[in-house]
Amino acid sequence: MGRFKPTVVFDFDGVINSYTSGFKGIDNIPDPPVDGISEAIHDIRKAGYKAVVVSTRCVEDKGIEAVKKYLESHNIVVDDVVTHKPPAMVYIDDRAICFDGDPGKLLSQIQNFKPWNK
Ligand SMILES: [Mg+2]
Repeated sequence: MGRFKPTVVFDFDGVINSYTSGFKGIDNIPDPPVDGISEAIHDIRKAGYKAVVVSTRCVEDKGIEAVKKYLESHNIVVDDVVTHKPPAMVYIDDRAICFDGDPGKLLSQIQNFKPWNK
């Protein structure tokens, strides 16, 4: 019986794919990976976590294939590639606000939000 592995969800565009060109089509992924992401995911998996990649690209078969091909060609090893966020211990996303318990800050955090690559 294997040990339970907590799931860590990785957003694809903007976390694994550097996404500096923005969206160019569901199966067109022209940008290189974020520097060091392959090694980071490797270390996270080695530490006992399950790495699951989530992308809305996966709503179409050609999108799933493109994401899987991208991961493979850049030596990024993960446990699963899915369309919708599964229950997880933590979510890694380039378009997220980490809620800190203070709802009063949310509107200004939304208004001032910028992903790292913009
Ligand atoms: Mg993203």
